[in-house]
Amino acid sequence: MSSIEDFYKQIKEINASGKEPLVIESGEGAYLTIEGKTVLNFCSSHYLGLAEDERLKKAVKDAVDKYGVGTGYRTLAGTHKLHLELEDKIAKFKGTEAAVVFSSAYMANAAAIQTIIGKEDIVISDELNHASIIDAVRLSGVKNKFIYKHTDTADLEDKLKEAQEIPLKSDGQKPLILIVTDGVFSMDGDLAPLPKIVELAKEYGALTMVDDAHGEGVLGKGGRGIVDHFGLVGQVDIEIGSLSKAFSVIGGFIAGNKTLIGYYNLKARQRLFSIALTIPDTAAALAAINILLESDTPVKKLWENVEYLKAGFKNLGFDTGNSQTPITPVMLGDENKAQEFSTKLYEEGVFATPIVFPMVAKGKARIRVIPSASHSKEDLDKGISAFEKVGKELKII
Ligand SMILES: *Cc1c(COP(=O)(O)O)cnc(C)c1O
Repeated sequence: MSSIEDFYKQIKEINASGKEPLVIESGEGAYLTIEGKTVLNFCSSHYLGLAEDERLKKAVKDAVDKYGVGTGYRTLAGTHKLHLELEDKIAKFKGTEAAVVFSSAYMANAAAIQTIIGKEDIVISDELNHASIIDAVRLSGVKNKFIYKHTDTADLEDKLKEAQEIPLKSDGQKPLILIVTDGVFSMDGDLAPLPKIVELAKEYGALTMVDDAHGEGVLGKGGRGIVDHFGLVGQVDIEIGSLSKAFSVIGGFIAGNKTLIGYYNLKARQRLFSIALTIPDTAAALAAINILLESDTPVKKLWENVEYLKAGFKNLGFDTGNSQTPITPVMLGDENKAQEFSTKLYEEGVFATPIVFPMVAKGKARIRVIPSASHSKEDLDKGISAFEKVGKELKII
């Protein structure tokens, strides 16, 4: 047993090993100002460059003038008509019957799993799923957890077969089986094999859930997401989205059929016991969704930039992994090399953070570059030349 003194001593030591956060002194557009220095923003997940968009700013100002700032608890007196409008537009955008918003995708994942999965049910999860899914599974208290090898549908099928052997629950019912996966895996930019997952789910009687935080605003027609990308609209039970990535605001949602969303509205603890989105957040998110409902221009611009950047890196001889999305890992391998590479890029006026263990496996360190629709060709050229200079200096290329 450790004394209170020991406890504080231990956490003090751990705190000392932490890094001070970088403090941004500008908006989050194509460039950032950090400690008075302006650098190219080369790793942001504001894919569509909406963080400083005039339409979002205006929507927020108008809504705040009209309705003020705060809202309440949704089930008491906190459901504002803007919330309903946002949910309606999200459902329209995703091509689902309904949607419900939460204060983040972390919360939406927690709600999506905890509300429907009990101790005796079954969850089958990709080994590289996002931390918020892992935490959501833990929160449900489910005992029957299966982890399948990353995107390996043969292994998933083995787990589904094992799941069939699990006995009836104490109430005599069959356990519910939920297959859950990230849509886009955020470190490598690869995709979940959703068509095969949906096929297996049908065969073995499982519910499907996909977290599309990095797919919305990016994949599919006009950025509709991974389910649209694979032509599977209406065939995935639970879709999770974040309003903080491509939409550049805050909030998360569950999209799906009316019955399921109705149940989440009634039962999700994250909705009953936690506050609703504020007026400015809701108005900004609504404006962002409306932009994409009206036009695919920002998504097209994003992809033009992605093609240009990836071609630039390939021509220089960098290994950019097997991403199918704007997430562009520049593989460096060694942790120290990745750190040094990032520091040197910063000296060249380019901000791109290193991704090292434990975020990725040891020896798989990289710089994760993400271009956005806010970059011009000149911005991308600037970034590519900085990579060329540093890459040659460190003998990577
Ligand atoms: C970023 C992310 C989340 C968390 O989103 P928030 O809205 O910031 O809570 C959840 N899942 C995945 C896959 C993500 O990439």
